[in-house]
Amino acid sequence: GKGDGEMPEKVKPSFSENATRVLERRYLLKDEKGSPTETPEEMLWRVARAVAKAEERFDDEQSPEYWAERFYEVMAQLDFLPNSPTLMNAGTPAGQLSACFVLPIGDSMEEIFDALKYTALVHKSGGGTGFNFSTLRPYGDIVRSTKGVASGPVSFMELFDHTTDVVKQGGMRRGANMGILNADHPDVIRFIKAKIEEGKLKNFNISIGATHKFMHAVLNDEDWQLLNPRTGEVVESIKARYLFDLICEMAWRTGDPGMVFLDRIDELNPTPNLGHITATNPCGEQPLLPFESCNLGSINLSNMVSPKREIDWDKLEETVRVAVRFLDDVIEVNHFPIKEIAEMTKATRKIGLGVMGWADVLFKVRIPYDSEEALQLARKVMSFINKIGYEESSNLARIRGPFPAWKGSKWEESGVLMRNATVTTIAPTGTISLVADASSGIEPAFALAYRRKAFEGTANLDYVNEILLDALKEEGLYTEALIEEILGKGSLKDINLPEGLKKVFVTAHEIAPEWHVKMQAAFQEFTDNAVSKTINLPHEASVEDVKKAFLSAYELGCKGITVFRDRCKEDQVLYVGTKP
Ligand code: UDP
Repeated sequence: GKGDGEMPEKVKPSFSENATRVLERRYLLKDEKGSPTETPEEMLWRVARAVAKAEERFDDEQSPEYWAERFYEVMAQLDFLPNSPTLMNAGTPAGQLSACFVLPIGDSMEEIFDALKYTALVHKSGGGTGFNFSTLRPYGDIVRSTKGVASGPVSFMELFDHTTDVVKQGGMRRGANMGILNADHPDVIRFIKAKIEEGKLKNFNISIGATHKFMHAVLNDEDWQLLNPRTGEVVESIKARYLFDLICEMAWRTGDPGMVFLDRIDELNPTPNLGHITATNPCGEQPLLPFESCNLGSINLSNMVSPKREIDWDKLEETVRVAVRFLDDVIEVNHFPIKEIAEMTKATRKIGLGVMGWADVLFKVRIPYDSEEALQLARKVMSFINKIGYEESSNLARIRGPFPAWKGSKWEESGVLMRNATVTTIAPTGTISLVADASSGIEPAFALAYRRKAFEGTANLDYVNEILLDALKEEGLYTEALIEEILGKGSLKDINLPEGLKKVFVTAHEIAPEWHVKMQAAFQEFTDNAVSKTINLPHEASVEDVKKAFLSAYELGCKGITVFRDRCKEDQVLYVGTKP
């Protein structure tokens, strides 16, 4: 290393045009007039240096400067990127670097409005928040002090939704929320229908908190009791299947609610010594304890494929090691929005290393997304990342000490020293995948090609998947006419091409829902936290298909599930105001 704090010159990042636009709009620091005061390279160097500052606190063979350069390299090569808040805020006075938070809510005015205030502070700092509202007494329940009636969880959620509208995250984007209500809360039906009207709770993803008991009641067609959380009394008894059918029908219509399998999440809670997990972050990939936060980062798997079209395991291993150290360093230099969050986060030191570019990998190695072979490779890749991640967290623990709540944790039980209570999470990578020019998370490709009108309709802006272009050239199939045809159709389905090639280059809606679920489950098997995945259904899918997807997600060991039926919101307008 040069050690003089200057930007390394070995690696020059090559951002795509699209990535540059995203960086300019959302990430680069700006002056009062809104013009960027840094280049994309300078942004990465700012982040690398700010994060590597943590190294000054520890005795390592290598210097902090060395690590700043390594961090810069993995980011500049687009092999690894941390979650958006780290890119935006590292090395700035704000300095809040995590994407994921869970806040507790108690059943009193004071506690509700405390949570609202914390939410505003977290959103302002760039994070997203998740809540379980089941502690709140139901609609119409008594309020002793005022002799009034309670307005119930859903109306309080509207308050959080509105607050989210008002507070922009670090001036860059709007916050996101996860609202969970357990299946046995008396307001559960109200909750399931809460997003039916367009625009309602638009800053919320909502999910039903489902226990094993609930899922078994559904599978065995049993009665299901709704309980008042304030008194524990049974308010009503309904058929579990009635509730489940309603959940699936609403999910079919609007994409909400999803389900989170709470018992499964809590069974895998690495620190039961600190309490129960009852909620996740907004996109569902990060279950957390109350007041806990987590910083994410994702490896661009597309860059881990060798020219021989195989996974480059050595490169992947090296990238995982640097990434784990990077994410652990982030916790050291992070500025937390409130004291409680700082305390909880430092007690468990959770990090969430995941992947993006999975669909790109499958295109490159020519394996169809919807195949057993793809599931096998998914398990191989993720188990490898998880294993190396544990090794690295363990190495760090030996030098830096284990996470403070290690004593009494499941890690202590199994005799493994760990720096981080969790290591892996599969994030959606909504924005960072644009920066890396990779397919997002573990999702299949949405379209292979599209044509957009640009410059006021006077010109076409064409996009054709680069890996597809390479493949067509390699197979000697490339012609201008073929590209025109692909641009027109967006997928290869109805084009006269070799079947093998068409099977490999599939898009999200051509993949049967069960394969989406199987892929989520394959990654979940080797992921500490959870997996962000949308089970995409074709427009013609039935409510029955949604039910099947939900039940198989439960059976295959997923921690939650979200579905989205293509263009469902188009017919949604027709349903507004009608009873489900
Ligand atoms: N998130 C948020 N607001 C947004 C998008 C994301 O608060 O507009 C949070 C949320 O907790 C989500 C997490 O960031 O689950 C990760 O999302 P993603 O991977 O898409 O973020 P990226 O790092 O790509 O911006």
